[in-house]
Amino acid sequence: MAPPNPLPFNDLNAQHRRIAPGIERALRQVLEHGRFIMGPEVARLETLLAEFCGARQAISCGSGTEALQLALMALNIGSGDAVIVPAFTFAATAEAVVLVGATPVFVDIEDYYGMIDPLKIEQGIDLARNLGLRPRAIMAVDLFGQPASHGEINAVAERHQMNLIADAAQSFGASLDGVPVGRLAPITVTSFFPAKPLGCYGDGGAVFTDDEALAGILRSLREHGQGATRYEHERVGLNSRLDTMQAAVLLEKLAIFPDEIERRKQAASAYTAALCDIVETPLLREGAQSVWAQYTIRVPRREQVASQLLAVGIPTAVHYPRPVPRQPAYQGFPVANSGISVAEKWSEKVLSLPMHAYLEPEIQQRIIAAVRSAVRT
Ligand SMILES: *Cc1c(COP(=O)(O)O)cnc(C)c1O
Repeated sequence: MAPPNPLPFNDLNAQHRRIAPGIERALRQVLEHGRFIMGPEVARLETLLAEFCGARQAISCGSGTEALQLALMALNIGSGDAVIVPAFTFAATAEAVVLVGATPVFVDIEDYYGMIDPLKIEQGIDLARNLGLRPRAIMAVDLFGQPASHGEINAVAERHQMNLIADAAQSFGASLDGVPVGRLAPITVTSFFPAKPLGCYGDGGAVFTDDEALAGILRSLREHGQGATRYEHERVGLNSRLDTMQAAVLLEKLAIFPDEIERRKQAASAYTAALCDIVETPLLREGAQSVWAQYTIRVPRREQVASQLLAVGIPTAVHYPRPVPRQPAYQGFPVANSGISVAEKWSEKVLSLPMHAYLEPEIQQRIIAAVRSAVRT
């Protein structure tokens, strides 16, 4: 039987209805000027993205995964190098490390917030050294829209002269102690995949840094390692440019992004107020502002709760059903000695509820009532 009035998990249609005239005008302009690769919208977007987060440089590229890869390549990380990666994240964080020829070393997460545990990173570094690898970087993933504990992670990175890369694919627009994502780490990477808080209508990504020299290398790497002139290649790079059409879409979406973040925050507060007595609702780190890429609760009997919700037309998602080192493709990579029991526990209980900027109060009440009923039965 078809569920009654199924709700969208992420209502991109509602967002599109709001911005359709602007998007159509912007795309028509691209069709008219015809500069589909590196057109003027790309440079304009980079300027506005940098302004938005206060980073000196924004380098757009083909996807969040490629942004991670470009960051690793720009730091010359490759074969024989180890990169510390949280055990609980989207696989792309580790994938980029493997793609550049380096070894991900997995470290467990904090029980409260689900992000890499700064106290366990050094065990990962020791393990990398014992395996004969050079520990070169730490990937700090800002899970579900709020920043990782960048201050503490940065301190570990500095102590060991390692690079810190922020995987902010889910958190662009968030902040920690008033510092926006994009300035919390020497290199920050984000994604414009359609379902991210700031998404385009296809794939896209960006890297942020204050380091001008590194920015120059990133710009070269995203265009086949191009040098000062077109057919001069200084290094082996990628073809990873953001399409002009996607930049045009992002310019329209960036204009409403602050308002959308505010709406997401309101929706998240309403969920927390109505659900915190019966499920583990998401906790915000002190000083953190989240963009609520996901609103993820933790519940026992997750599969039953999800199927009861689906039966009444409420879609949910599991971010993520297994720790990355438990995935077939990653089970051969090293895991720090303290294990990944917290990541295991999170992956058994996480359940993401519909979250977007167009979650009207009545819809939200319907979801809340259904969650309360599913959890009780
Ligand atoms: C979405 C995501 C990525 C990958 O971004 P794409 O643009 O889809 O390549 C990387 N890391 C995290 C944590 C993500 O959520």
